[in-house]
Amino acid sequence: MDFAFTPEDEIFRRSVREFAVQRLLPDYRRWDRGEALPREIIGDMASRGFTKLRLPADYGGEGASFTQCGIAAEELSRGDPNVAMLILNPMVVGEIAHLLREEFKGQWLPKIANGAVVGVDSTEPMAGSDAAQLRTTARLKGDYYEVNGEKSSASFTGFMEFSIMFVRTGPSGSRGISCIVVPMDLSGISRQVYRSPGGRATQRGSVFLDDVRVPALNLVGEEGAGFNIMMQQFDFLRPLLGLMGVGAALKSLEETVEYVKQRQAFGQPIAKFEGVSFELAENFTMVEAARLMAYKAFFLKDQGQPIPKEGAMAKWLCIQAALSAIHSCIVLHGHYGYSEELPLELRLRDVLGYEIAEAPPQILKLIISREILGRGFLPHA
Ligand SMILES: Cc1cc2nc3c(=O)[nH]c(=O)nc-3n(C[C@H](O)[C@H](O)[C@H](O)COP(=O)(O)OP(=O)(O)OC[C@H]3O[C@@H](n4cnc5c(N)ncnc54)[C@H](O)[C@@H]3O)c2cc1C
Repeated sequence: MDFAFTPEDEIFRRSVREFAVQRLLPDYRRWDRGEALPREIIGDMASRGFTKLRLPADYGGEGASFTQCGIAAEELSRGDPNVAMLILNPMVVGEIAHLLREEFKGQWLPKIANGAVVGVDSTEPMAGSDAAQLRTTARLKGDYYEVNGEKSSASFTGFMEFSIMFVRTGPSGSRGISCIVVPMDLSGISRQVYRSPGGRATQRGSVFLDDVRVPALNLVGEEGAGFNIMMQQFDFLRPLLGLMGVGAALKSLEETVEYVKQRQAFGQPIAKFEGVSFELAENFTMVEAARLMAYKAFFLKDQGQPIPKEGAMAKWLCIQAALSAIHSCIVLHGHYGYSEELPLELRLRDVLGYEIAEAPPQILKLIISREILGRGFLPHA
C-alpha cells in the first residue's frame, strides 16, 4: 500500500494549486454577485489542459489518470469550486468519445479541448433520482431526431455550447433512453437560468426543447444505450464532486488555522482553547479520511475496476465532512465568519449544491446498500 502521489502527480498538484489560489480565488466572489464567468478564465483553464484531461490523445487529450483528475478537481476548488466544475463534463466526453461518430469527433472534440463548455443533462422536472422516468422525446425523422421536452437543473445552462443529453427514443423505462449530443444553437432551444443560493457561476437552469432538429449522427452509441452510458459516468463524477468539497474545506480549514492563531480572547490566542483546537483537529481528521476514500476510488478506477460503491461512499463522506468543516470554520471566525468579507459562507452555499448534484445522500446510501446487500434488497426491486 502506497499513500503517496507519484512525483509527476505531486508536481501537477502544486501547479494546479498555484493557479487556483493566484488566478481563481481573488475573483471567486465576483461570479457569485451576478457577473458572468469571463471567457478568458475558461480559456485559461483550457490552455492549461484542464478541459482535456481525458479527451483522446488524437484530439489533444492529456492522457490524465483518474487520480490526476481528482487532484485537479480538489486543487482547483481551493480557488473556486464552481470553476472547477468546468472540468467534469469534458471528462464525460472523453469517456464516451469512442461512441461518437467520426464526423462529430472532428467537429467537436477540438472545440472542447479549447474550452467549449459542455453540459451533461438527464434531470427533468419529473425525473431526477429516478432518471429512468425521463420524458424528453427524440423521434427519428429521416436524418434527424426531433427533440421535445425540458431538461432541468442543468449546470452551465446560461453558456454551454452543447449538451450531452439523455432522451427517450423508445418505450418507458431505462431501455428506451438514448444519449445524443445537442448543439445549443439549434432553433427551438430556449434557456432559463435559475436564481440559485450557490453555484451561481455555473448558471444552472432549464433548457426547453421545442421541435429541435438534431442530426441523427449526433447519437452517442446505439439507441437504447443511454441509461448505461449515464450510469457509467456517475461512478467517477461522484468522487470528483466529493473532492471539490474537500478542496473547498481544506482551504477553509487552513485559513481558520491562521485566524485562530492570531485572534485573541481572554488574553490569549483562541487557538489555545481546546474548544477551538479540538474542533479543528476533528475536522481535519474527517476531511482527510474522506479525501483518502476518494483517492482510493480513483486508484481502483485507474486499475480498471468498477467503483459504484466506492464512488458513492466517497461522495457521501467527502461532502458530509466538507460541510461540517466549513460550518465550523465560519463559527470559529466568530462574527467575521458570518460575513461576505470572507469566502466561507460562499463555500458553504456552493458545496451544499454538490450534496444534491449527481445523487443526494439518500441515493448514495441506496447504492452502497445495494452493493452490500444485493439488488434483491432494493426497496423497488
Ligand atoms: C448544483 C447542482 C447542479 C446540478 N447539475 C446538473 C446537471 O448538470 N445535469 C443534470 O442532469 N442534473 C443536474 N443536477 C440535478 C441533480 O442531479 C438532481 O437534483 C439529483 O439527481 C436529484 O434529483 P431531484 O432533484 O429530481 O430529486 P428527487 O429525485 O425528486 O429526490 C428528492 C429527495 O428524495 C430523495 N429520494 C428520491 N428517491 C429516493 C429513494 N428511493 N429512497 C430514499 N430517498 C429518495 C432524494 O435523495 C432527495 O433527497 C444538479 C443539481 C444541483 C443541485
